[in-house]
Amino acid sequence: MINIVLFGPPGAGKGTQAEKLAEKYNLFHISTGDVFRYNMKNETELGKLAKSYIDKGELVPDDVTIKMLVDTIEKHPESDGYIFDGFPRTIDQAKALDKILLERGTSINMMLALDVEEEELKQRLKKRALDSGRADDADPEIIQNRINVYLEETYPLKEFYKEQGKFVKIDGHGSIDDITERLYDSIDSILA
Ligand code: ADP
Repeated sequence: MINIVLFGPPGAGKGTQAEKLAEKYNLFHISTGDVFRYNMKNETELGKLAKSYIDKGELVPDDVTIKMLVDTIEKHPESDGYIFDGFPRTIDQAKALDKILLERGTSINMMLALDVEEEELKQRLKKRALDSGRADDADPEIIQNRINVYLEETYPLKEFYKEQGKFVKIDGHGSIDDITERLYDSIDSILA
């Protein structure tokens, strides 16, 4: 079993790359952003609650997010591992994830951190806004808020995984395929 945290700021390309990694290594791809958006679209109670945070570029509270993650894992127990995309985003989420995996006799193998400079991120999000229909991509102020929240609450997770010897930085510039190759190389090196 191999469990990967795919990490990086909004617009780093986590979703695109996670799909490729999930396919190649037969991992179950969990995107907390996608699960929230699915619930928002279907106007569930969870969706309504999440929307009030997401539309402002804030994080959904930890207790809600962690419960949703456990529910998702429990629905898919039989994959060769998981790729976590957009989770954890806080230290408390990371601690909860360690506990959840430990209870299932497994753990995180590595955090692959996509490194992309801020101007490039803003350009990508602006472009994505044209076809994603995401309210949180459309407004520069909300984008800035998401980047600020990332720097304050999520960026410190690097240290959390560094201390565990699991942090791997990946250059997130260049073509989608180039970045995918870099990710494959890192994963293959721990599988070898
Ligand atoms: P991006 O990486 O482009 O910001 P995501 O699809 O991962 O997009 O997340 C969209 C929004 O969903 C976030 O800005 C946040 O409000 C919410 N969200 C997603 N994952 C989490 C999480 N693990 N904890 C709290 N909020 C989350």
